Amino acid sequence: MRLYNTLTRKKEEFVPLEEGKVKMYVCGPTVYDYIHIGNARPYVIFDTIRRYMEYKGYEVNYVQNFTDVDDKIIKKAIAEGVDSKVISERFIEEAKKDAEGLNVEPATKNPKVTEEMDGIIEMISTLIDKGYAYEVDGSVFFDTKSFADYGKLSGKNIDELEAGARIAVDENKKNPMDFVLWKPKKEGEPYWESPWSQGRPGWHIECSVMAKKYLGDTIDIHAGGEDLIFPHHENEIAQSEAANGKPFAKYWLHNGFINVDNKKMSKSLGNFFTLREIVEHIPYDVVRFFILSGHYRSPINFSRELMESAGAGLDRIKNAYKSLLFKESKAEGDMTEDEKRLADEADKFRIQLEKAMDDDFNTADAVTAIFEIAKFANVNVTENSSKEFVTAIREKMLMLCNILGIKPYDEVKNDSISEQEIERLIAERAEAKKAKNFARADEIREELSEKGVVIEDTRAGVRWSYK
Ligand code: AMP
Ligand code: ZN
Repeated sequence: MRLYNTLTRKKEEFVPLEEGKVKMYVCGPTVYDYIHIGNARPYVIFDTIRRYMEYKGYEVNYVQNFTDVDDKIIKKAIAEGVDSKVISERFIEEAKKDAEGLNVEPATKNPKVTEEMDGIIEMISTLIDKGYAYEVDGSVFFDTKSFADYGKLSGKNIDELEAGARIAVDENKKNPMDFVLWKPKKEGEPYWESPWSQGRPGWHIECSVMAKKYLGDTIDIHAGGEDLIFPHHENEIAQSEAANGKPFAKYWLHNGFINVDNKKMSKSLGNFFTLREIVEHIPYDVVRFFILSGHYRSPINFSRELMESAGAGLDRIKNAYKSLLFKESKAEGDMTEDEKRLADEADKFRIQLEKAMDDDFNTADAVTAIFEIAKFANVNVTENSSKEFVTAIREKMLMLCNILGIKPYDEVKNDSISEQEIERLIAERAEAKKAKNFARADEIREELSEKGVVIEDTRAGVRWSYK
C-alpha cells in the first residue's frame, strides 16, 4: 500500500509503527453550524482509507476531534443568548447525524476541547519549561524560532514567512510567526483556570494534546483538508515534537478542496451549502459516491449536473445488485463447471479494486472496478444461473462495495421489513400466482404496500422500491 505523504512530498510504502495496527488522527470540524459540503469530503475520504486498512487486516484506532471552543461558537451563543455548550453540543449531534448519513464508521474516540483542558495546560507548561514557549501578560505563545524544523511540512521558510507577514497583530509576540497557545478571556467569554490567566487555549494545541493522549507521542497517519497544512498542521508538529522530543506523525494525508461551480465556496459569494441543505435534494449515499468518484488529492467541483450523474452511476450499481437479489431469491442448486470458472474470473474485480486503492487510495479507479463487476453480473448472471453462482457474484459485489462504504441497495426506510423479507414475499407471491392463488398474491402486495414497499411486474421480473 503506497500513499502520498505531504511531509516528504512523495508516494511511500505504508509501514505501520506497530505491526497490524494503525494510529490515525483526523482534524474534525468546528461545531458552530451544520457541517458544509466541503467538510463532507474529509469525512468520506478518511473513512474510506480507514475501511480499506481494516479490510487489509489492520486494527485502526481512529481519533477525530470536535473543536468546541472557538470564536464563532461564542459569537453564535451570544446571538442566541445561550451558553456556548448549547451551541457546540447541538452541532456535535448534527455532525454525527450527517456522518452516519454518509455511512462514516464512528470514530474510536471523538475528543472535545472542553474535556481536555488538563492535558492542554500540561503540554503548554512543558513547552514553557523546555524553552519553546513564553508568557506575556496572561497569554502564552509558541516561539517558532526555537523550533529548528518549523516549516518542514508546508515547505515554508520561516524568514520568508516573516518578511511576508504584516506587522504583528498581537504586539505581545516576540516574532510575527509565533502563535498563541493560551489567551486570556475577554468579557462574556467562557474561560478555564490556568497558571497564566483565566482564559482558553489557541486552536492548534488541542490536536497535539488529543493525539498524544489517545494515540501516543508518535502516530502513523495524521489527516485533514489541505487548507490545514499551514499553519495548523505545521504548528501541531512544532508543539508535539518540541514537547515530546519525538517525531509526531509518520504520514501526513491531505484532501483537496470541494469547489462549488468552479469557485471557492464562501458565504459572501452565496455558493455556500451545508450538507443538510444538499441532502434535501440529493441523498447522502449519492454525496458519498460523488466524493469517491474523484481522487482525494485533486480539487473536485460540486454542481447539480455532476451530482445527477453520480446519482445515475450509483443507480446502475444498485440496479445490478437488486437484480442479483431477485435472481438469487428464485434460483436453485450448485454451480456448474462453467459457473465455477466465471466465479473465479470475477475475482479480477477485487484485484482491480485493491490495485487502485494500494496506489494512494485511488477511489475513482476503485469505483470503476465496481461498475465493471456490475456489468459482469448483468451479462453473466441469468434466470438460469444456479443459486450458488448468483450468491457468489452478489457477495463479491457487496464485499467490494463495503470496502468503499457504498451501499448497493436502498436503505430500509423503516424498521418494519428487511430486504430479505421483501425478496421472500415477492418469491412467495410469484408462487401463489403460479398456483392461481390470486387472493394470496394480492394479500402480499397489500402487506408490502403497508410496509412502504411498492412492487411492479415487469418482463424481467418483479421490481420493488420504497414508496
Ligand atoms: P473546519 O470546520 O473548517 O475546520 O473544517 C473541517 C475539515 O473540513 C478540515 O479537514 C478542513 O480542511 C476540511 N474542509 C473545509 N472546507 C473544505 C472544502 N471546501 N473542501 C474540502 N475540505 C474542506
Ligand atoms: Zn487539528
